[in-house]
Amino acid sequence: MPHASLAQRLWARTEGTWLRAKHWPSLCHICQAWPSQALCSGCVERFAQPLTRCPTCALALDTPHCSQCATTHPLFLDACLAAVSYQFPWSDCVTRFKFQADPGLGRSLAELMRHAPWVEPALERASRVVAMPLSRTRLRERGFNQAFELARHLAHDKADAHTLQRTEQSAHQVGASRDDRLANVRDAFWVDPARLGDVRGQRMVLVDDVMTTGASLNEAARALKAAGATHVTGLVFARTEAPPDR
Ligand SMILES: [Zn+2]
Ligand SMILES: [Zn+2]
Repeated sequence: MPHASLAQRLWARTEGTWLRAKHWPSLCHICQAWPSQALCSGCVERFAQPLTRCPTCALALDTPHCSQCATTHPLFLDACLAAVSYQFPWSDCVTRFKFQADPGLGRSLAELMRHAPWVEPALERASRVVAMPLSRTRLRERGFNQAFELARHLAHDKADAHTLQRTEQSAHQVGASRDDRLANVRDAFWVDPARLGDVRGQRMVLVDDVMTTGASLNEAARALKAAGATHVTGLVFARTEAPPDR
């Protein structure tokens, strides 16, 4: 289907699964149209068109040079991919997915990620699709790791929730400046020593739901690189387009 629209391609890909799974149509999470999948084709077409993005931090670009990457050193991510911008209606969808643990929505968000430019080859080439970890406390509070839910839908056989570990999160990142975020996550990640052999010499995709400044993703990539990963691609559903301090 070479000339099909994004919505047509998504629909063609997911329809079979949808029918086999006997999932009855429901309301679109965005426009409330019925009957629909979790996200209707009209909303996908309207709100999820790919943008030209920086290859290393996924910021939408309208100039040849990326201001974010000019000030972030060193970069441990070799590449970074995002499906959409973190704004209406996706910010609401992420909140619903994260706090209401809606599994149908998780599947739909992962499908949008899979269809973003360069994502499928990155998933194919990676030996593992590693979820950004939550601290034990946060995992207990929420009951599930939203990044692992996305990773599971993206690459069931490669999805990994155990390789990367995280210290207890002392401060909430929401509203923090870029420097504060960086200080909060410095040395916050490490690779489970029992799994070093799975990382050394391997290509990894590192998955998260939202990327704001990229400080956490970059630190997590640093831990994977320190454990011997040869290449780390960050992959997020939504990218904040105007990080703090820019
Ligand atoms: Zn809709
Ligand atoms: Zn950049």
